[in-house]
Amino acid sequence: MSATDAGDQPPQSAPATRRWLFADQLGPHFLDAADQPALLLESTSVFTRRRFHRRKAHLVLSALRHRAAELGDQARYVRAATYREALAQGGVTSAASTEAPVSVVDPTSYGARRLVRRLQAQGHVQVLGSRGYAIAEAQFEHWAAGRGAEPGQRRLLMEDFYRDVRRHHRLLLDADGGPEGGRWNFDEDNREPAPKRAGTLQVAAGVPEPWWPTEDDVDAQVREDLDRLVRDEGVEFVGDDGPRRFAVTRAEALAVLEDFLAHRLEAFGTYEDAMLRGDRWMAHSLLSVPLNLGVVHPVEVARRAEQAYREDGVRLASVEGFVRQVVGWREYVWQLYWHLGEEFRDRNALGHTEPLPAWFADLDARGEVGAACLSDVLGQLREEGWVHHIPRLMVLGGYALQRGWSPQELRDWFHTSFVDGYDWVMTANVIGMSQHADGGVVATKPYWSGGAYIDRMSDYCGGCRYDPKKRLGEDACPFTAGYWAFTARHEELLASNRRTARAVTGLHRLPDADAVVAQERERGPAAP
Ligand SMILES: Cc1cc2nc3c(=O)[nH]c(=O)nc-3n(C[C@H](O)[C@H](O)[C@H](O)COP(=O)(O)OP(=O)(O)OC[C@H]3O[C@@H](n4cnc5c(N)ncnc54)[C@H](O)[C@@H]3O)c2cc1C
Ligand code: SF4
Repeated sequence: MSATDAGDQPPQSAPATRRWLFADQLGPHFLDAADQPALLLESTSVFTRRRFHRRKAHLVLSALRHRAAELGDQARYVRAATYREALAQGGVTSAASTEAPVSVVDPTSYGARRLVRRLQAQGHVQVLGSRGYAIAEAQFEHWAAGRGAEPGQRRLLMEDFYRDVRRHHRLLLDADGGPEGGRWNFDEDNREPAPKRAGTLQVAAGVPEPWWPTEDDVDAQVREDLDRLVRDEGVEFVGDDGPRRFAVTRAEALAVLEDFLAHRLEAFGTYEDAMLRGDRWMAHSLLSVPLNLGVVHPVEVARRAEQAYREDGVRLASVEGFVRQVVGWREYVWQLYWHLGEEFRDRNALGHTEPLPAWFADLDARGEVGAACLSDVLGQLREEGWVHHIPRLMVLGGYALQRGWSPQELRDWFHTSFVDGYDWVMTANVIGMSQHADGGVVATKPYWSGGAYIDRMSDYCGGCRYDPKKRLGEDACPFTAGYWAFTARHEELLASNRRTARAVTGLHRLPDADAVVAQERERGPAAP
């Protein structure tokens, strides 16, 4: 990677053009000058088409309106029923031919890019290269060239990509340009099992609660508007309302970041993958929302984490683990969305077609779900619109994979049910990593595991009516039994992969494999 990075790019248009800002382009780096005129469009018609988590609807509208308030007279803020009407009222499609077109930074979904390309072809807008990511898409293409999955070629490994991003931005490097601490990867020192006896990270490691934003009049007004949409326009949301947990303004995002660096980052790596029933936030940063809204830049976040290591002595393994998430995984997921193409989001390599059952789709499993892990994770998602990456991957995604649920239904569910859900995050995370529906492009093997993994990484199993060691009978753990049922269903595929063949050998050694498969077939879509 040699070209300048997206964060370093010079202005690409005259600052005098009015900048149309999408709802995930709300930071200062989406303007070319501090006083550039801006245009923000609000349309709630999307809420009539898809059922979003109420907290997500609140966050997005709150973020847009807070940005408009910050910009004051500089911003034109248009509210309309549909986006098409908002574009006309905002002067994008209705401007006189003598007026300069508005400019817009390339948006973050295929659908939105089609819209701005069409408007560009009609002479209404000038489209600029995307911003808010560690490298430009053209740089990724350059990097990926020659690394295809063909024999003899190197795969698009996240680890290789991540190291190049660090070299490119000179992040966590030593004086000779090598990795700080002599290693690129500190995973071995991170990802410890859950401290079960402690119950919370406050007890285990002195990690305090995260910093919370204080709601203001803008939030209250959004809440009233959402109530009105439900009352008067029949809009349906899922999930509970509640005090806003996530940062939507730059000032709030910087406050969360500084609090995280000072009080939580030290424990981040150690407990990155652990789950505790009594501690939903663990030592996670809660930065995905402001990062995805564009109010902070990922390289800026990674640099501040590096500074916390160099100046404040925060544990290197934790800092590396966090930097890996922000400019490694996040960036890789973003780049793959464009690199792999739009059809990737519709892949279904395992041929899974079962619909999502209502108890899962509605996030309303109260009383219905006896499996302690699933019940707690779904409950947390209903209350907060957020759970951290292991419940997403190993509990929610893992259960869906074992049961053969449609990856496309699951993709849409993740997109709308999570406060940080966006289309670009779905391809690699849900279609690829979680459901293996891409046939192995993102991960070389499916991530499916039994109750033993959840037992090691959480304190759920002790209080569960099921037993993680049992695969057959009344108290058989649905994850453990589901593991074998999945192995049996995809036996041929798993046997042909060096990394999964052992599971098939294990299946053949089970004296009761047929009975386990029949038991899980019988369970069907019912809540476990
Ligand atoms: C099945 C599945 C679905 C996911 N869906 C989303 C989603 O819709 N939106 C989303 O932002 N993240 C998603 N993630 C990634 C990750 O779970 C969340 O970014 C993270 O839990 C957010 O909490 P945090 O900010 O406290 O993250 P931390 O654990 O503190 O991590 C720091 C940051 O790293 C970034 N990050 C780390 N891993 C990923 C990743 N795989 N993809 C994208 N960003 C990453 C996020 O910006 C996050 O804020 C998903 C992961 C899985 C396995
Ligand atoms: S026993 Fe199984 S269902 Fe119960 S909490 Fe453990 S993994 Fe989840």
